[in-house]
Amino acid sequence: VEAEAGFDLGLLGGVVVDASGRAPRRANVYVRDGRVADVSVETRAARRTVDCDGLLVMPGLVNLHVHARPGRALGDGLPMLVWHERWADGLARAMRDGDAYVGALLAFTECLLGGTTSALVMTPRYLEAADAARDVGIRAIVVPLAVDDETAAGTGDDLQESIATITSLGRQEGERVQVWFGFDSTYSTSERGIRAVAASARAVPLGVHTHLSEEREDARLRLGTKGLFGVHYLHDCGLLDLEQPVVLAHCNWLDDDEIELLAAARALTVAHNPTSNMHLGTGVCPVGRLRGAGVRIGLGSDGMLSNFHLDMFQVMRGACMLQRISALDAGALSSIDAFELATVGGGRVFAERLGEVAPGAPADLVVVDPRHPRLSPTVESGTDANIVALLVWCAAPSDVRTVVVDGRIVVDDGRLCAVREDEVVARAQETFDRIYARIDSKQP
Ligand SMILES: [Zn+2]
Repeated sequence: VEAEAGFDLGLLGGVVVDASGRAPRRANVYVRDGRVADVSVETRAARRTVDCDGLLVMPGLVNLHVHARPGRALGDGLPMLVWHERWADGLARAMRDGDAYVGALLAFTECLLGGTTSALVMTPRYLEAADAARDVGIRAIVVPLAVDDETAAGTGDDLQESIATITSLGRQEGERVQVWFGFDSTYSTSERGIRAVAASARAVPLGVHTHLSEEREDARLRLGTKGLFGVHYLHDCGLLDLEQPVVLAHCNWLDDDEIELLAAARALTVAHNPTSNMHLGTGVCPVGRLRGAGVRIGLGSDGMLSNFHLDMFQVMRGACMLQRISALDAGALSSIDAFELATVGGGRVFAERLGEVAPGAPADLVVVDPRHPRLSPTVESGTDANIVALLVWCAAPSDVRTVVVDGRIVVDDGRLCAVREDEVVARAQETFDRIYARIDSKQP
């Protein structure tokens, strides 16, 4: 029976949870050719099956903004710009060939073990991160941390060089790992450079990722020859009317005109980084105003250096907490809203229907074991159903048992399949030690 009608993979007997608004329901999820093929109570033939009785099956989490320099938890409590110069730029200057690969391997290992199946990564020496993503099995979009300002030399990739390289890679539609255009910021990249990125992105065509309006000072910089504020400036540079995805990280300080421009941009998504923003004390993304205007939003952690962790469960609950305390309203962002932002919200940047658990959607799936005291007791259905609230507020990466990306099992019973975790940790330590020895002034 199995050969002609069979599926590649079956996740059997779990409770399916997604952001569709449907109540969690017990079902078998079957996968074929990298896509969800069937979600039903029927038992069908599959080449490989995973017993999910008593477990939850949810869409993979999408981290829409990550950096992967091989360092973590440094400069805690420093002002953002001081921290950035010392640690973000300091590490980048001291990195050598192969170091970005190890940093990305560490980041992707943490992502996958914690149920994150897609990551948008901006990192210096970006092509090494694309190699790491291919090796470890995560779905990724990798962009350069490109700069062209003389004062930023050595802190990122050369902008013009990155434009030439990425243009030559061309369209990569349907590939699990893609390389897009990217630049660090509006203040370390020239107007000429940003216009060149926009023109190339339109010509190939390919998506673009950058930071915008993270803290109050950078949001009020008068940019370019016309002296425009951030969103107006990117609009003037031709970046907001592209047909292909543009992802802007942060967008914390926006006036009403800027929100209108973002809403009018056809393929724009804001990557909101609540825990990073709280950590660095930079600002509060106006999620309610953006959603009200129709701007798409996904969630990101930001980097290991700036946010310290890449745990999207913490990021989801951080998003709720930040909106609620700043609005003084417990209803400001619900668990299901945060779950939606972290699945389909960021997912559509990677592929159509990514983040759904339904036939035709990409098969990026996570199996969570809810039988831990912190996730108990559960209410599966009815008006007091608490499964999504438990996932958002109480779940931890260690609750993740199985992870499927593009139809393939990449984490099996809590263990990464492609590489050994202890080897990733050892390589990261050895790489960081070498980089750290090269950084001159370690103290303020
Ligand atoms: Zn960032």
